[in-house]
Amino acid sequence: MKISHIEHIGIAVADLKASIKIYEEVFGLKCYKIEEVPGQKVRTAFFKVGDTKIELLESTDPEGPVGKFIEKKGEGLHHIAFAVEDIKEGIADAISQGAQMINQEPVKGADDMLVAFLHPKSTRGVLIEICEKEKQVM
Ligand code: ZN
Repeated sequence: MKISHIEHIGIAVADLKASIKIYEEVFGLKCYKIEEVPGQKVRTAFFKVGDTKIELLESTDPEGPVGKFIEKKGEGLHHIAFAVEDIKEGIADAISQGAQMINQEPVKGADDMLVAFLHPKSTRGVLIEICEKEKQVM
């Protein structure tokens, strides 16, 4: 697959407001968007850092993926997202290389992205997302 850059780094947080305050006050970053993603059972907050973003993830449901992650591992680094030119091609390439996908098809992520996660079993413990900017339909 063709990766252009690290699109974002996902961080699981227990309290979105408290975490936004840290990134704004300690690091001087500006939160430009808060968005709920019902499909992933999370509320997200975004900060731009050069070409990359920080994505804070607060669970909206203890049974959701981020809720379970925090219960098991606590707050902290959750995933790395690579920007790819073509997400369907990225998924097909990963599968052809023997990687296991959590999402066999792209799903709607936050901030107008189509996303798919690789299973951390296939990446030796790191949750990796690939994503492609969703094309605006006129
Ligand atoms: Zn993400």
